[in-house]
Amino acid sequence: MTRYSRDIPFLGPFDVLVCGGGPAGIAAAVTAAENGANVALLEQNSYLGGMATGGCVNPMSEFSYKGERVIGGFAWRFAHELIKANGAILEEPRGNLSFNPEIYKLVAQRLVNQAGIHLLTNTFIADCIFDSDMLHQIIVANKNGLQAVSGRYVIDTTGDADVAFHAGVPMLPNTRPAQPGTLIFSLANVDTTTPRMHIIHQKNNHIHHSASFIRELFEKLRGEGVDVPQFGGPWFCSTVDDGCITVNMSRAPMDAVDALNYQHATAQLRENVFRFVSLLKQHVPEFKNCVISSIAPMTGVRQSRRIKGKHILTGTEYLEATPFADSIARACHPVDIHLPGSDGQILHYPETAAYIPFRSLQPEGVSNLLVAGRPISADEDAFAGVRVQATCMETGEAAGLATALCVKQGGIPLDSLDLTEVTSKIREGGTILP
Ligand SMILES: Cc1cc2nc3c(=O)[nH]c(=O)nc-3n(C[C@H](O)[C@H](O)[C@H](O)COP(=O)(O)OP(=O)(O)OC[C@H]3O[C@@H](n4cnc5c(N)ncnc54)[C@H](O)[C@@H]3O)c2cc1C
Repeated sequence: MTRYSRDIPFLGPFDVLVCGGGPAGIAAAVTAAENGANVALLEQNSYLGGMATGGCVNPMSEFSYKGERVIGGFAWRFAHELIKANGAILEEPRGNLSFNPEIYKLVAQRLVNQAGIHLLTNTFIADCIFDSDMLHQIIVANKNGLQAVSGRYVIDTTGDADVAFHAGVPMLPNTRPAQPGTLIFSLANVDTTTPRMHIIHQKNNHIHHSASFIRELFEKLRGEGVDVPQFGGPWFCSTVDDGCITVNMSRAPMDAVDALNYQHATAQLRENVFRFVSLLKQHVPEFKNCVISSIAPMTGVRQSRRIKGKHILTGTEYLEATPFADSIARACHPVDIHLPGSDGQILHYPETAAYIPFRSLQPEGVSNLLVAGRPISADEDAFAGVRVQATCMETGEAAGLATALCVKQGGIPLDSLDLTEVTSKIREGGTILP
């Protein structure tokens, strides 16, 4: 152990500090700023979007359940901004949105800038200063060196609950191995015009689909002794440009919050991507001339930390769509468990779109912190549904709204906030709540 001590510059104070600029963080920051708060947004990458852009995770799932749209608000507005910028296609009836990640970065950056947010990119959150139940400052590192940033309220949207972890919030244990990591890659020059490839690219009637003919082929090749690494799907998705698709198929067991384990898994996944592309070129005519146009700069993390919050959303509550007095978001995705160590996936479909209570965003023990997006307080089954992007944006929006309303009321504790105003504003935005 080494003890390290020095004086470092101080930034702020801000009303609301949003930590992490992925789907949840963009929604939280823009919502808080548009509701009057002075907001800073901290992001380690040089661009916004998190898994959606850095991880090339496509599509944004999902706005509707059995054809009924239940998610509105910021997520729906963002989807329409992307469509308006010719950067996305909406697939009905599930309401999945296929998008171009570069246009996503641009649209997100414009919204954040228009909202007057103090955006610091290339800025890594490394620690925090807290006492018994309050988070005071976030310690960041960037080209200026170490700095301390303070916010009256903090929203952790790092996807991995980094801030909550540094502040000593208890995390929920995993009772089974975490879902695997995936390195998504993009291909150009794919022949998407043949009938079987129409499942992945139909302008005006876009469908995102698991390509079962390739799964069958790869299983057959493996049976013949060909080296086929572990894979999921494969799931193909349009990036809106002709002949260009994203491919979600590599998978490896991964502990995303252990630096060395993450590096080893990423190295394995990168090897596997090149193997898959070589097999596709060799065995599938539509891929004969394909080229790798990019490999996601961030390794796709399905599962890492989950906080222990005031309510732990359970898989049963998720699947039965239990309504809560403090419901602030809906989730339409099935409980979607990708199995590490195999090619398998388990899906359980809810009776109707699930509800997420505000208490699942409130970590135990830190009164001015909310956690939104992937790591909210949910058991492993409920987590496997709430982790998708439209729902992450919704929990981000709720956190942004709640903190901005606390600011308007003179800096009251989050626990004292009457949630009626939060839920009625979310309803006004078009999300269907009980
Ligand atoms: C392979 C794969 C397939 C998926 N498929 C789908 C799908 O089909 N549809 C769907 O909707 N969702 C899908 N998901 C899930 C979805 O992409 C994520 O769960 C979602 O993006 C989580 O959003 P978030 O904002 O909580 O976190 P993230 O998207 O992870 O964003 C977190 C942000 O915080 C930043 N950050 C993290 N730590 C720090 C730090 N210490 N300092 C500074 N910045 C930091 C990151 O750079 C990032 O920008 C998939 C995920 C994976 C991995």
